[in-house]
Amino acid sequence: MAGLEQYHDKRDFKKTSEPPGKVARTKKSEAGGIFVIHKHAATRLHYDLRLEHGGVLWSWAVTRGPSLDPHEKRLAVHVEDHPIDYAPFEGTIPKGEYGGGSVIVWDEGTWVPETDPAKAMRKGHISFELKGHKLHGTWHLVRLKPRGGEKRENWLLIKADDVAARPGEDILKEAPESVMSGLTIEEVGEGKSAKGQEPKVLKSGKPAAAKSR
Ligand code: MN
Repeated sequence: MAGLEQYHDKRDFKKTSEPPGKVARTKKSEAGGIFVIHKHAATRLHYDLRLEHGGVLWSWAVTRGPSLDPHEKRLAVHVEDHPIDYAPFEGTIPKGEYGGGSVIVWDEGTWVPETDPAKAMRKGHISFELKGHKLHGTWHLVRLKPRGGEKRENWLLIKADDVAARPGEDILKEAPESVMSGLTIEEVGEGKSAKGQEPKVLKSGKPAAAKSR
């Protein structure tokens, strides 16, 4: 069940410029939609992978970021659903607020699940294709068996071994900037903003066509 209670409870919208957002209306038959990866310089730098489903963005905090190397298994901590309006968010969350630190849109595009995404989520193994600017091809999210005392579910984000795989390469270093504004997270932290640039990430069901490089 999609809901944004946790998202709203954690934030004070008088203090943060993040959008309050609502659960978007979607057709039940819809599978896949937009995806976005936010690079987030919070207390600890991480990358938030978000996949549209059921009118919200399913979200995982990928502590070391995605890797194009199929041998790399990256820890992805399942976090609260975010509103779809969150997709184009770039800016700086004030210090002391939840998630305080700067955020950029590191990649965006569309995702296509291989099987029914709700069932895959319950099963704990989601296989999907990403059509982004930086990320392409098939990916897996695999839930780890819970261990006692963990508040959140730990998953692994793994690149499938396909034509889009790039063993040994580091996409995080090669392409650190925002696909929306072209800014680095450091520049956003210094208060720079790309005025006059329209967000490429659109509303639910109408993702911007991802340009292939
Ligand atoms: Mn985050």
